[in-house]
Amino acid sequence: MDNSVVVRFAPSPTGPLHIGGARSALFNWLLARKHGGRMIVRIEDTDLERSSTESEENILNSLLWLGLDWDEGIRKGGDHGPYRQTERLNTYNEAAAKLLETGQAYYCYCTEEELAAQRQACMEKGELPRYLGKCRSLSEEERSRLEAEGRKKVVRFRVPENENVVVRDLVRGNVVFESNGIGDYVIVKSDGIPTYNFAVVLDDALMGVTHVIRGEEHLSNTPRQLLLYDALGLRAPQFAHVSLILGKDRSKMSKRHGSTSIEAYRSQGYLPEALVNFLALLGWSPAGEEEILTLDELVDQFSLDRVAKNPAVFDIDKLNWLNGAYIRKSDVGRITDLAIPFLREAGYVTGEITPDRYEWLKMMVASVQEKLEYVAQITDHVRVYFEDHVKMENEAAAAVLEEPEVGEVMRVFRQKITEAEELTPESARKILKALTKELKLGGKKVYMPLRVALTGQTHGPELFYLIPVLGRDRVLVRLAQTVGLKD
Ligand code: GLU
Repeated sequence: MDNSVVVRFAPSPTGPLHIGGARSALFNWLLARKHGGRMIVRIEDTDLERSSTESEENILNSLLWLGLDWDEGIRKGGDHGPYRQTERLNTYNEAAAKLLETGQAYYCYCTEEELAAQRQACMEKGELPRYLGKCRSLSEEERSRLEAEGRKKVVRFRVPENENVVVRDLVRGNVVFESNGIGDYVIVKSDGIPTYNFAVVLDDALMGVTHVIRGEEHLSNTPRQLLLYDALGLRAPQFAHVSLILGKDRSKMSKRHGSTSIEAYRSQGYLPEALVNFLALLGWSPAGEEEILTLDELVDQFSLDRVAKNPAVFDIDKLNWLNGAYIRKSDVGRITDLAIPFLREAGYVTGEITPDRYEWLKMMVASVQEKLEYVAQITDHVRVYFEDHVKMENEAAAAVLEEPEVGEVMRVFRQKITEAEELTPESARKILKALTKELKLGGKKVYMPLRVALTGQTHGPELFYLIPVLGRDRVLVRLAQTVGLKD
């Protein structure tokens, strides 16, 4: 492959960007970036009823959020526009007129009932339902009569008989379809709008697309498209159909297995680089062991040879694991910014955030950053900071405070906290170190009772952070509440 690779992502704006669409966009993007090629984004909005500007915006914004930009197309312009199919109707109509002229396409006047009868006839013979060619060879008189009746008409492509159409798929190898099983299909609907299979061919050809990577659900469309390339004398791109995405139970991915839209993950505080990494592993695998890969590493390593034929399994636990790994690697300021809306919603943050308050929030976020799989979980983890009364979470926690050395630990700790000039994670670390040394106790004998005394829990935020996040006053109040230590 050389640097003349041109790929495209051509979503239908009938809903938000989904996991499957995002994965197709990513694979195309990776191929383009790897070969120094170009990525086009255009909009397939021929389903007038279901298409909306809102979906288009959602899809494009989700792509950009994932870091998948494009070189040409919608919002961007270029030499092959317009990039919305409803704005390209002339192109399709001209091509349809040519096919009609040469007899490679014809007008069909069949009513719904007539179509249903033909489908029924196929099924009775045990064949796939298809159009049986009722209007294939209408005489001039018949046509005029049907026109005079004011019947609606569509344009159908005349599928050549007895041909094998071979899809040379870069992932699946050669996949052969018999033309006789296809049936003449509609290329322009009665309202003058082209069908997907027709418009996509003209767009891909006229935009110079060299590689089409898309979901396996489109594989059966590809022979229909190849026949049109032939009929129109256009050069077909290379195709790669990537496998379906299944849930862990091997049924088609649906909401039961996890949210399906990219937006849903964004709004739960998933990081785009984690999601991209996860999407890349849905059907592609790196040559090496390392699965945590940045976008640059993915570009470097991506190749269609390593795209699997068998279905990809969507594993939300794996996504959470990856996302957690990326959160841990992230700058605490970034996670804090992402956390603030969740903290506001929970009522933990109100009003304007002063610089001091922001520093405090950062320290709080740092105390639980290690534990987050996605940022929305933060409210559960920081709840301990906002409770007025410390409650023992269970008997095991209460029992920790019954140990013989606890009284001494608390007393010395309290003294050190009272005397400390300022409380920071560093000073807290020093205080705890000094404490274990003075009392000649192992870390656990000191940390666990302190954790329980300050939070009522045997697990939770990092202790070095917990102490300064609570601050001296609240540490003292809590010690009074849980172990009865007072002045
Ligand atoms: N508009 C189609 C879809 O969203 C794209 C098909 C293609 O990539 O050719 O599924």
